[in-house]
Amino acid sequence: VLADLRELQRRTGDNNGAQRVCWTEPWRGARAYLTELLAEIGLAPEIDEAGNLWSYLEGEREPALALGSHIDSVPDGGWLDGAYGVMAAVGVLRAWAQSGTRPPRTLAIVDFADEEGARFGRSLYGSSAVTGSLDAADLARAVDAEGRTAEDVLAENGVNLERAANSRSRLERIGAYLELHIEQGPVLEAEGAGLAAVTGCVGIERLRFEFTGQTGHAGTTPMPMRRDAGLAAATTALAVERIAVEEGGVGTAGRLDMSPGIVTAVPGGAGLAVDLRHSAAGSLARMLERAREAAGAAADGRNCELREEPVWRIDPVAFDAELVKAAAGVAGGRRLASGALHDAAAIARVRPAAMLFVPSIAGISHAREEDTAEADLRAGVIAFGEFAARVAAR
Ligand SMILES: [Zn+2]
Repeated sequence: VLADLRELQRRTGDNNGAQRVCWTEPWRGARAYLTELLAEIGLAPEIDEAGNLWSYLEGEREPALALGSHIDSVPDGGWLDGAYGVMAAVGVLRAWAQSGTRPPRTLAIVDFADEEGARFGRSLYGSSAVTGSLDAADLARAVDAEGRTAEDVLAENGVNLERAANSRSRLERIGAYLELHIEQGPVLEAEGAGLAAVTGCVGIERLRFEFTGQTGHAGTTPMPMRRDAGLAAATTALAVERIAVEEGGVGTAGRLDMSPGIVTAVPGGAGLAVDLRHSAAGSLARMLERAREAAGAAADGRNCELREEPVWRIDPVAFDAELVKAAAGVAGGRRLASGALHDAAAIARVRPAAMLFVPSIAGISHAREEDTAEADLRAGVIAFGEFAARVAAR
């Protein structure tokens, strides 16, 4: 599996990192390599209506157990994000194919298209299509940095977006879904843990607060007479940090725009983008409520107006309790909630799903420095194979 991953990076990466952005030539090259690896064990790929790649190793029973992830990457991405899970799934099918015994149930491999949403800004495209939560009309209109529509780019890759939802029929043959992934954060490394069962993916509330005060001269407007929208936004950003800590979640004020945005003017306008995450729906709702209250109080305190714009949200998803237990059984009992989204979060809404994480060195991901110690990568693949064998035997 590690040799396959290195060969994939040699073919589709460069000095700046992985370049497997979905619907591009390197991505098609990655798919071609995956097809070669499947051919070596006598399997042919099937591409569904959304552009996801599936292949099946026949077992004693059905429904099948699906193993997978995504082979696409962000631009200048890491060599392991997604690819690790896809190549590990190939490894599991290969081990069974070469063992001379049929697996206890059919094993499916799936490479979901455009998990990253790097080109059109819509994450989890392929897995959302399969689970029926894709807004195909919205995606069709989305444009990339060169002004090309998703509809045209996908059509070049053989995908008719009007038919993408038909990929849902793939679920009929699938009983459960397992995914191996790198953590993409620093928690496991800090704890010295080599592996963890993922309990679910956090929910996200993403919104923008717009503060309106009064622009004024930095020299002539006395401090008590100001209506400083920038400070109202900055006060809210600090509150977001405090609320996240107190509620046991994470909160980020990742963007602050001030107008007029010059050093000699009191900001009359300020926009603050906020991203709140928690694995428990009730706590996430409380974080949102408290962030709104904090923004309201900050606006009132500086005699500013406040407007709120929704940006995006997703409910937390808990993975299947029995599968998480089985995952913990091969992961030394360590459990962790994922702060990032994965294809498994989409699939978990319609089928039992679970994930295993291996540590990320220094927590770095979506960058060429992304890496995991070789011993951890090996242990992860072996544990994933054991996990799949146990679940398939049920
Ligand atoms: Zn990923």
